[in-house]
Amino acid sequence: MPDDKMTKLEALAREAVDAVKPGVEVAEGVQRADVDAVNRKEERSLYQRRARIHPKRAYGTFRQLKWLIMVMTLGVYYVTPWLRWDRGTGPDQAVLLDLPNRKFYFFFVEIWPQEIYLLTGILIISALALFLFTSLFGRVWCGYSCPQTVWTDLFIAVERYIEGDRNARIRLDKTPWNFSKLSKKFSKHSVWLIISVMTGGAWVFYFRDAPTLLVELATFQAPMAALLFIGIFAFTTYALGGLMREQVCIYMCPWPRIQGAMFDEDSLLVTYRDQRGEPRAAHKKGESWENRGDCIRCRQCVVVCPMGIDIRDGPQLECIHCALCIDACNAVMAKIGRPPNLIGYETFRNLEASKAGDYAPVRFFRPRVIVYGVLIGALSLLMVYALLSRDTLTLSILRDRNPLFVTLSDGTVRNGYTLKIINRAHETRSFRVSITGVSSSKLAIVGEREAIVQVSADDIRSAKVFVSGPPPADGKQSMTITVTDMKDQRTVGEATTFRGPEK
Ligand code: SF4
Ligand code: SF4
Repeated sequence: MPDDKMTKLEALAREAVDAVKPGVEVAEGVQRADVDAVNRKEERSLYQRRARIHPKRAYGTFRQLKWLIMVMTLGVYYVTPWLRWDRGTGPDQAVLLDLPNRKFYFFFVEIWPQEIYLLTGILIISALALFLFTSLFGRVWCGYSCPQTVWTDLFIAVERYIEGDRNARIRLDKTPWNFSKLSKKFSKHSVWLIISVMTGGAWVFYFRDAPTLLVELATFQAPMAALLFIGIFAFTTYALGGLMREQVCIYMCPWPRIQGAMFDEDSLLVTYRDQRGEPRAAHKKGESWENRGDCIRCRQCVVVCPMGIDIRDGPQLECIHCALCIDACNAVMAKIGRPPNLIGYETFRNLEASKAGDYAPVRFFRPRVIVYGVLIGALSLLMVYALLSRDTLTLSILRDRNPLFVTLSDGTVRNGYTLKIINRAHETRSFRVSITGVSSSKLAIVGEREAIVQVSADDIRSAKVFVSGPPPADGKQSMTITVTDMKDQRTVGEATTFRGPEK
């Protein structure tokens, strides 16, 4: 039958490969074996040779959602280093990891090495959020927003644009090398490499003022470290997103092994509703739907799967829950006039209940979900409090240990201390240094005529301080060194000891 006279249903039936004998083409240049799941559950081996997957394009709600998330995540990644933020002094890049000065700038937040606990807090909250979403909706992170998924999706979109959709790509891979094949492969890998270099390039902009670095790159004056990291990230993006694709998720990533422990019977997972789909069989237009399932064995859910698996085989570690098989199956259900969601987000609890003819509503509020939620809430509040209550002035004191003290000619003893004063304000500040706890003592700051230390805006200053006074009665005495902002009288002190000879 000529293609233009073929109805959509008949076209689908042509891909219903169970009705096709092995060796017979299901489409021009495409054999039945090409339509079987590459990573079939029962045939899977850790040591098997990789079979190439040619995912077909899916159309539907989840595909649209994935496009949207891809545009948003890539947009955030590529655009963020170019956002500016006026801090008065210091760099005006909104997000900057300033390694030489050991500071991390994130819009109005500026994190110093001493405040690394804030970054730790953000990482812990992110991990808990991941646990929470995994418990609720399965591998949504893997399916929609993991960088491996996003870049692989982008690379497959490029491949599809240049080489065509699934069947065209299978045919192209089987075709002997000729000019057309060579030019398509060359174009595809060239675009992949451009994307990879842009990805590596965007990454280094997070570590140095982006406009300055761009000029340095354009004029071949960029530091060797920047070039090295662009090379490393370009290579890893090209290799992981373009060449290795699903292999990264199946064999390299530990997360699928861990998150299996986070699902429970109430997690919403992409599931084939076998109760409704079985017994599966090919279906011809006009035939009855009595005594059979809704699955027509068209394998559209298989051919769109980027992991090369068959969702009808049940839950599998390889499934990244991208939901493209839902879109594919819903399109089929619409064409054959059956209800949607033969494959859909489903809980094990409802799956079991449906076998008994019952319905079990989704339980979102479960102990583990509540625990994750409470922990995220408490930690977030703690972080907000820590951010709001952080001081613009910090003092730390290091006491000299060698020698512990020096006895002067007038019988007094002298102790040495190193003060580290951190001024996080965006203006230069002068601090008066004073001591309490040692009577008749004198304080001197090396290099200063008065007991005053000036610290530049957003800077750290070390000052060597000598305190001399009568020897303490017990060989040591508690003492506090205090610094006071001479402008607003803000004071910070730290306790230390004043030592002399043991009696
Ligand atoms: S589950 Fe849906 S898409 Fe998959 S083979 Fe059956 S009918 Fe086709
Ligand atoms: S089985 Fe479905 S949800 Fe799982 S990876 Fe394949 S297409 Fe995505």
